Amino acid sequence: MFDVIIIGAGVAGISCAVQLKRLGLKPLIIEKSGFVGGLIRNAGFIENYPGLKAPVNGLEFAARLEKMIENFALDLVFTEVISFTETSQEVTILTSEGPFVAPWAVFAAGTSPKPPPVEFSGVSCIFEPVKLKGSSGDRLAILGSGEAGCDYAISLSEKGFDVTMLVRRDILTARGVLKDRVYASEKIKVIHNFSILKGYEEGVLKYISGETPGLSLLLEFQHIILALGRTGEGEKYGLKSIKGVETNFKRIYIAGDAARGSLGQLAMAAGDGIRCAQIIAEML
Ligand SMILES: Cc1cc2nc3c(=O)[nH]c(=O)nc-3n(C[C@H](O)[C@H](O)[C@H](O)COP(=O)(O)OP(=O)(O)OC[C@H]3O[C@@H](n4cnc5c(N)ncnc54)[C@H](O)[C@@H]3O)c2cc1C
Repeated sequence: MFDVIIIGAGVAGISCAVQLKRLGLKPLIIEKSGFVGGLIRNAGFIENYPGLKAPVNGLEFAARLEKMIENFALDLVFTEVISFTETSQEVTILTSEGPFVAPWAVFAAGTSPKPPPVEFSGVSCIFEPVKLKGSSGDRLAILGSGEAGCDYAISLSEKGFDVTMLVRRDILTARGVLKDRVYASEKIKVIHNFSILKGYEEGVLKYISGETPGLSLLLEFQHIILALGRTGEGEKYGLKSIKGVETNFKRIYIAGDAARGSLGQLAMAAGDGIRCAQIIAEML
């Protein structure tokens, strides 16, 4: 019934589905989270995607993607992909709702967060700020100082959270404008050369014990956000990119952050999705 099953309704998956539909094919998108948009929902502001008139935040960008699904009448099922197999003719995608079969599949399932460097016993750490339940004035720690960590620090401090970045090195990992904006902000505290020793919880408050050279610290927060890098979802399924969007499965292509195995960029994810659609369309 479907020509292509796409795993993941992030930018890569939706770009692929839209292009397939425009080429006269019938794609099905499977998404586990119950939301459209993927990781970008967490972004405070997006300013580098081609064609934007002004910066937009991640939820607004996701709403535009949702609108594309509606405009192109794309089929979308909210369920989790558990495993997949292929024969010389087709791919079977097993989900919590049962199997889906098609001649081709595109894996656009993004990445998962890397765990913290120490065990945070009892502390519920948040990996996606979009899930943060808190209010202005709450004390919040961010671990990880790459692009995601800096984006979180800027947007959450603008929302009124009392943000501290705990940074392993003597400089933020992010480069360029994001790094400059964090250092220029009077609302964001940055503690450098911070090694985490332990994390634990007492009542509703969460503590991080750590040290900077010559000084032991016990810091108290209401929320801890982890932005310590990401790994490709393909690993869980034994799927890997072998040449661009091609994988070790003959009938499954890979697109977006999943293909890179780490955090990438929206335009790269969109490009991969469209590339997969073009390749598959030529074969059908
Ligand atoms: C804070 C932050 C700020 C960012 N800012 C920018 C920016 O300004 N500009 C820019 O270009 N990029 C930015 N990025 C990067 C951008 O978000 C990613 O590169 C992009 O979202 C990757 O898209 P994707 O479709 O490959 O994967 P994702 O967006 O991760 O989508 C994957 C989807 O697959 C789903 N999925 C996973 N496993 C399964 C499964 N088993 N079954 C079904 N569905 C599954 C997930 O739920 C998810 O919806 C930012 C990222 C972050 C975290």
